[in-house]
Amino acid sequence: MTTYSLDFWTRRSNELKPEGLAFVDGRFVPSLSGRTYENRNPATNSAINHIADCDDSDVDLAVAAARRAFEAGVWSRRSPTERKRILLRVADLIERDLETIALLESMDMGKPVQVAHDYELPDLVEFVRWFAESADKLYDEIAPAAPGNLAMIRREPIGVVAAVVPWNFPLDMAVWKCIPALATGNSIILKPAEQSPLTALHLAKLMSEAGVPDGVFNVLTGYGPSVGQPLGLHMDVDCLAFTGSTEVGKKFMGFSAQSNMKLVWLECGGKSPNLIFEDTADLDAAAELAARVHYNQGEICSSPTRLIVQNSIKDAFIEKVMAHSRAYAPGNPLDPKTLMGAMVDAEHCSRVMSFIERGRQEANLVLGGNRISIGASSNFIEPTIFDCVTQKHSIARDEIFGPVLSVLSFDTEEEAVAMANDTIYGLMASVFTSNLSRAHRMSEVLRAGTVAVNTVDLISPLVPFGGMRQSGNGRDNSLHAFEKYTQLKTTWIKF
Ligand code: NAP
Ligand code: MG
Repeated sequence: MTTYSLDFWTRRSNELKPEGLAFVDGRFVPSLSGRTYENRNPATNSAINHIADCDDSDVDLAVAAARRAFEAGVWSRRSPTERKRILLRVADLIERDLETIALLESMDMGKPVQVAHDYELPDLVEFVRWFAESADKLYDEIAPAAPGNLAMIRREPIGVVAAVVPWNFPLDMAVWKCIPALATGNSIILKPAEQSPLTALHLAKLMSEAGVPDGVFNVLTGYGPSVGQPLGLHMDVDCLAFTGSTEVGKKFMGFSAQSNMKLVWLECGGKSPNLIFEDTADLDAAAELAARVHYNQGEICSSPTRLIVQNSIKDAFIEKVMAHSRAYAPGNPLDPKTLMGAMVDAEHCSRVMSFIERGRQEANLVLGGNRISIGASSNFIEPTIFDCVTQKHSIARDEIFGPVLSVLSFDTEEEAVAMANDTIYGLMASVFTSNLSRAHRMSEVLRAGTVAVNTVDLISPLVPFGGMRQSGNGRDNSLHAFEKYTQLKTTWIKF
């Protein structure tokens, strides 16, 4: 058993030589322009490597490779069982490289390496296996047509799928899109966020090693406007699967309308409510879960960022949440004891701080609120809690995407529901209560893709994940995820 220590992770990270080239048609290649950009570790402010800075000419090349592979049938016409076998190999290879991948993720976007290694990546391997296993378990349909008629309803892969993903869980978000799309026979162009390209490029290596044919899986690194936009506007991309902000999600709908009406699937922002009723059985456990808002530096779309507490228990409950929140004191992401690492970059850190400054004008700061320096980096923010927030305040309305909790309060269930639903988003909602009828009532009336009772933000490959309203459309995970990457074909046979 490896002994994980700060020394171990530091030594391993110094030994790593991460890939920085794009991956097109089975080969690592520089951008056609030859341009690169510098990729920094937000926890140290030092440069990790240089990354291919792709643009629309690289997009044309990758789309052509993906299309050629699709039409040639090297993957799209393989049997689902063969695709399953190869994708299961991908899962095994991710498991083999767990330490490297955890480090790449941590160095690239600041998350605690041990948390990624012990929890997030083993989970991710199970997601890959689940999608892979499903490849040969998706049955088609035969319609109950009149005698002498056979009406078959079959799923076909859509063709060339582009996946544009964010930096908060870089490999998870890539896998949620790419593995279901690959399992159903599509070709892919993955565009990771500019801040976090390293694990997408490592995944490309593993795809090749597992036997995914050239051209089927491509990774284009670079910026949103120069890679994401040309993918969104491309006439030969059939489907665009996006996870990121609501603002950019709306752009992709426009790109589709301006080009070829490609399917656009969006997983966007959130401002999720967490309702705590006075009849909650275990307030300590509820407080510990409420403090999870600081997990992953608060950079989680489905995080319970609005804590809506019944007045009768509010003060005592906030004390408990504050105590649990202190465990998330920021630290060196390579230290195995660290629960909260660095914000993804200085720009995002400043953006979160500007929300905190506004919060100071609007409400009562009861915990944290400061940007702090560790070593050569000042990209760290203390776990922060505001009390006496109302739905009028910006810190109750806008997605902050940092370790910031806004506490609101209510007297009646009706007030609580009205507050919870007073948002443009609808990704996730939580309710803590020991009243079974109330739990069911809440799960009916809360407008969110997932309602969690006596827990927060539970995510699994077994169930759909996605949002209502401006949190997006379509669903990742579960068998429903495959609907996004297939289209239905009807065949009539008269005999
Ligand atoms: P973002 O700015 O929307 O970026 C997401 C992706 O879109 C990145 O790859 C980005 O590229 C690209 N992009 C940016 N501007 C673009 C443009 N004009 N045209 C085409 N592509 C463009 O989001 P983020 O800051 O990376 O991530 C945070 C957001 O993601 C939050 O809003 C969060 O709620 C959301 N999120 C949602 C989910 C979910 O499942 N619902 C999960 C995780 C995160 P570059 O960054 O390289 O420029
Ligand atoms: Mg980076």
